[in-house]
Amino acid sequence: MLMGEERRALCAYGRRAIESGLVIGTSGNLSVRSGDLVAVTPSGVALDRMTPQDCPVLDIEGYVVSGERQPSSETPMHLAVYAATDATAVVHTHSVFGAVVATTMTELPPIHYNALLLGGTIRVARYATYGTPELAANVMEALAGRQAVLMANHGGVTLGADLETAFEATRLLEWLCEVYVRAKGVGEPRVLTEEELGAVVERALNPQAFPRREPVHGSDVPDIEPGK
Ligand code: 13P
Ligand code: ZN
Repeated sequence: MLMGEERRALCAYGRRAIESGLVIGTSGNLSVRSGDLVAVTPSGVALDRMTPQDCPVLDIEGYVVSGERQPSSETPMHLAVYAATDATAVVHTHSVFGAVVATTMTELPPIHYNALLLGGTIRVARYATYGTPELAANVMEALAGRQAVLMANHGGVTLGADLETAFEATRLLEWLCEVYVRAKGVGEPRVLTEEELGAVVERALNPQAFPRREPVHGSDVPDIEPGK
């Protein structure tokens, strides 16, 4: 089967997306790129009910080369991401907290330093009807330099070098949105300053060097006497 491994991976991550509550039913879609080919989830099929054969393969220009089912309606958006970035996997969900932020805000400010893993402030792309080239264009505009974007009144999109990375980015995006929404219920969340975010990057690039003890009794695990 053409792109058999990738199509099996789409099914595995589709199941994970449903099991982890990021997606219900047929909402959301995933794709993975290999060279000039893209395997994508089928339109209108629950993400935990697909088989690898259900996932169509298209070339990078959008022509179907394998599979009988209709490709996801968001295929234009997935292809636009591949045309403009070096990502090789894209995940789109209607996760709850992502949708809450996407319906109420124009961007998700960095109130937790983990936002840096997605590029910092996450922009909300302007609203357009699902599946349209206009929505794809709005997503590309909001994505610039980020691993994630929210689509107004819709949901989230993340990318990565493989499905695992894109899927984890979706989980992180949802976590960041949940933290923001819950923090907002307690008080006004403080947004990290440019200086604070810069210091986090600096810290990550220069991990602490821990001094190392000489091995004790020939072992590298120190013997600890009971009761001491
Ligand atoms: P598809 O079933 O066509 O992938 O559509 C789901 C969706 O999330 C549209 O934005
Ligand atoms: Zn959608």
